[in-house]
Amino acid sequence: MNSFSRFLIPLFWCGVFALSGCADGLLNDAVTPTAAATRPPRVVVVTATPSHTPPPPTATPTRAATPTSAPTATPFITPPAPGEAVEIPILMYHHLNPLPPDASELLRTWTVSPQQFTAQLDYLQAHGFHTITLKQLADFFERGAPLPTRPIVITIDDGWLDAYTVAYPELVKRKMVAVFFVPTNYATAGGELFLDWAQAAEMSRAGMELGGHTISHEDLTQTDLGEMRRQLTASKALMEEKIGQPVVSLSYPFGAHNARVVAETQAAGYRAAVILCCGYQQQAGNLLTLPRIRVSYEDTLEDFAGRLP
Ligand SMILES: [Zn+2]
Repeated sequence: MNSFSRFLIPLFWCGVFALSGCADGLLNDAVTPTAAATRPPRVVVVTATPSHTPPPPTATPTRAATPTSAPTATPFITPPAPGEAVEIPILMYHHLNPLPPDASELLRTWTVSPQQFTAQLDYLQAHGFHTITLKQLADFFERGAPLPTRPIVITIDDGWLDAYTVAYPELVKRKMVAVFFVPTNYATAGGELFLDWAQAAEMSRAGMELGGHTISHEDLTQTDLGEMRRQLTASKALMEEKIGQPVVSLSYPFGAHNARVVAETQAAGYRAAVILCCGYQQQAGNLLTLPRIRVSYEDTLEDFAGRLP
């Protein structure tokens, strides 16, 4: 298996889990029989995912930002009483590139076109949402730090190059922020597939949050304890060294987590972690299992808006 193939496999598994439906349940302690039965040997799937090459630079839209009426002062919300939830959607993206009409359901599940992405950002801006980082979310619940009204978190997983070439400039243009979850081996590889460390550091300096996604996109429910700890701590240490900032958030690869994974994530020093499923009710007690809202290729802007509070 060559190195390119190794990078494609995690995406495939993201898709397998996603196509199993709203997959939070199967991503807990035991993988369900259905998911287990569909898990082929890792090498088999490589050629089934041929089109993950990032779009060429010309695919990046040049659409101008929609002007919005910026308020002179941003009102803030303060933390709820203990145990109470707050409506804070956490959007989940992976690929941002155009797809051919015959693209597979798998790809359509995990991809949003650049045009859709910018339209969604414009929608958020026009409707008074304020993007925040997961560090801000943790500060809100743990320390009572206020958040802007209509807070929303944008997350982009896996460190594909289009996170840097498509998402990052569109966010900067609108003074918005997002959280980028990057496996450290991917950023070390960089190249035509993945954003590299210099790009990650640039985004961090610009106010984006870089979050952990392990070293090699491992399913942490399937590793032994020593390897789980290595995946969580060594990736965090390397990312912190590369970007010069603390890494406080994690996306569990494949969303896969259980009580042991969550406990080790906390022990490794992560203050917030996200899963794949579903909704936008956030509370202090689920800072390490924060639900997200998936955005997909089939979503119209009305679909997108309909999933928000
Ligand atoms: Zn991932």
